[in-house]
Amino acid sequence: MSITTRFAPSPTGYLHLGHAAAGLIGFEHARAAGGRFLLRIEDIDTARCRACYTEAILADLAWLGLVWDGAPRIQSAHVAAYRAALDQLAAMGLLYPCFCSRAEIAAALGAPHGAGAVYPGTCRHLDPAFAADRMARGDAYALRLRTDAAIRQTGPVRYHEAGEGWISGDAAACGDIVLARKDAPCSYHLCVTHDDALQGVTLVTRGADLRDATPIQVVLQRLFGWPTPGYAHHALLTDAAGRRLAKRDRAATLRDLREGGVTPDQVRKIISCRIGNITSLS
Ligand code: GLU
Repeated sequence: MSITTRFAPSPTGYLHLGHAAAGLIGFEHARAAGGRFLLRIEDIDTARCRACYTEAILADLAWLGLVWDGAPRIQSAHVAAYRAALDQLAAMGLLYPCFCSRAEIAAALGAPHGAGAVYPGTCRHLDPAFAADRMARGDAYALRLRTDAAIRQTGPVRYHEAGEGWISGDAAACGDIVLARKDAPCSYHLCVTHDDALQGVTLVTRGADLRDATPIQVVLQRLFGWPTPGYAHHALLTDAAGRRLAKRDRAATLRDLREGGVTPDQVRKIISCRIGNITSLS
């Protein structure tokens, strides 16, 4: 089977070594197998994404020697397609409006920030007439997945993880994920799943920080009848103090490395030293 990989950065900052690792792994695997390597710009979150970062991503990848097949897919140009997918889930009775603010969610959880926590389900059982009334009044709302009902339809999650084989995943642990945001017409989980299917991606290479998102994305694939690609989650790169690299760490951006005289070959070597051979998945 011919393979199709992809690199799907969000243009919220300059690419750093961690992104370069994800991109290189996808690129090298496609190249070794004579397959396709696609580039997708995940810029649905217009409040955080900037066109200047998209341009910088294209330039940094070209500098690194990554060549992608076809034109990059720019998610913000395809909102109508994501809305159509949402409508399908709504027709299946699997979505509900959520009016909660971040502060309300944090208070319900008894946690100061609520970041990374599972939604406590406050709006899941709202009276439909009351919810419709609030929507008609123009109150801002997100659309959440009825994850328990979705899992009842799809059954237990299994997917193939490189180096591990077929593994089970706990989609319920993600809770009722947001599929359309208050401030954006759709969300990461929906768009990433939609586009991996549409673009025929057969192998998703990305950082281990997204591993927990995989089971719920498999649930979405099954709800829509889309194929489940294989996954290869790579170890996250860390700084000298063992902290995960973030876009705010200027020192690790490809831009700064390049300006500091580091070559693309040296970038590859740095990555291989930190996470192992980028051309081998196990
Ligand atoms: N756009 C996501 C990010 O930049 C990556 C999505 C994915 O690889 O599944 O973190």
